[in-house]
Amino acid sequence: MYDQVIDKNNPNSALKVTQGTENRQDVNKDLFKHIKKVKSLSVEDYVEGILSGNRTILARAITLVESNLYKHQLIAQEVIEKCLKHSGNSIRLGITGVPGVGKSSVIEVLGKKLTSEGHKVAVLAIDPSSERSGGSILGDKTRMELLSSDPNAFIRPSPSAGSLGGVARKTREIIILCEAAGFDVVIIETVGVGQSEVLAHSMVDFFLLLQLANAGDELQGIKRGIMEMADAIAINKAEGKEKERSELAAINYRNALHLFPPQESGWQPKVFTCSAYSKMGIDDIWQNVLDYVEMTKKSGYFYKNRNTQNLRILSESISQTLLDRFYDSDVAKTKLDIAKDDILDNKVSAYIIAQKLIDEYFQSLKG
Ligand code: GDP
Repeated sequence: MYDQVIDKNNPNSALKVTQGTENRQDVNKDLFKHIKKVKSLSVEDYVEGILSGNRTILARAITLVESNLYKHQLIAQEVIEKCLKHSGNSIRLGITGVPGVGKSSVIEVLGKKLTSEGHKVAVLAIDPSSERSGGSILGDKTRMELLSSDPNAFIRPSPSAGSLGGVARKTREIIILCEAAGFDVVIIETVGVGQSEVLAHSMVDFFLLLQLANAGDELQGIKRGIMEMADAIAINKAEGKEKERSELAAINYRNALHLFPPQESGWQPKVFTCSAYSKMGIDDIWQNVLDYVEMTKKSGYFYKNRNTQNLRILSESISQTLLDRFYDSDVAKTKLDIAKDDILDNKVSAYIIAQKLIDEYFQSLKG
């Protein structure tokens, strides 16, 4: 096609045709056969795949749940709804603690123990940093290498979402999918920072707090609220020469726990020492989880707690949906900035203007 513009007989022409290469022999022609377009799945395909325990389809369904695209959300919600009646049959275990305490190491040892006993273990994470930067406190390191290659384990990093509330919602939905796929132990890992452990606590049956035997001040560093939420505390890295110090720390924690009001479940939290390195204490912790489940199922608290958690989701979802719709409305878009200026200029009370905007918003729905 360049023949008209290129004068082949002019040696001074800047325009030249460079010969193309033949297909090289060493390029694997089959390579591109593998890069096929991923077939899109119907809701039924997803549900069937999940219920049959297909991990690839489970992972794809989770990606849909995590997606913020409206069309993905529509499919995800349908899939979740269909999976719901197949969910709920797991022990949901929350594990929290500061970065470096050994959460992933303990989960790896516990997870391997459980899969070797025939359990299917899903490990999900709630990472508070995913709400802001898209970066991650939990996910950056190579984590749980043994468990991640275990066919009976499924590890998924924290969903990132606009808000921690969004992360929590997605995690709850992912729990449903994992349970429908046959995972009978679901571990929710979170760092002991701010609100994330409150959220993790609100979606699990049993909440384990990991601690270190820091010299002297081990009780000062943690907030009372976290200790109050814990169903068990384990002092990790308690092997070798740390053994004695960890035992001492455990005694301190036991004494401190006695001063707390009794839990609604009637459960008395225990304090353990453990080591992900020597695998000491992990069996005892799991036995404690089983004891808790047995006791609370007998008393009915187990089911009551799950019901309470579900009802909380209902009211949280209503609040969130109302907020989203309001902020997405023309009223908010056209009047909120003016209202903010008026408040900053002390022209109007924030309460009154809030009421006015909400009234206007509901009025606009009628029109
Ligand atoms: P996470 O940030 O809480 O998930 O902690 P990691 O599991 O990544 O562990 C943090 C560091 O502590 C790593 O270097 C681990 O090898 C180490 N570690 C974890 N568990 C133990 C343990 O039981 N004993 C000792 N000595 N070190 C441990």
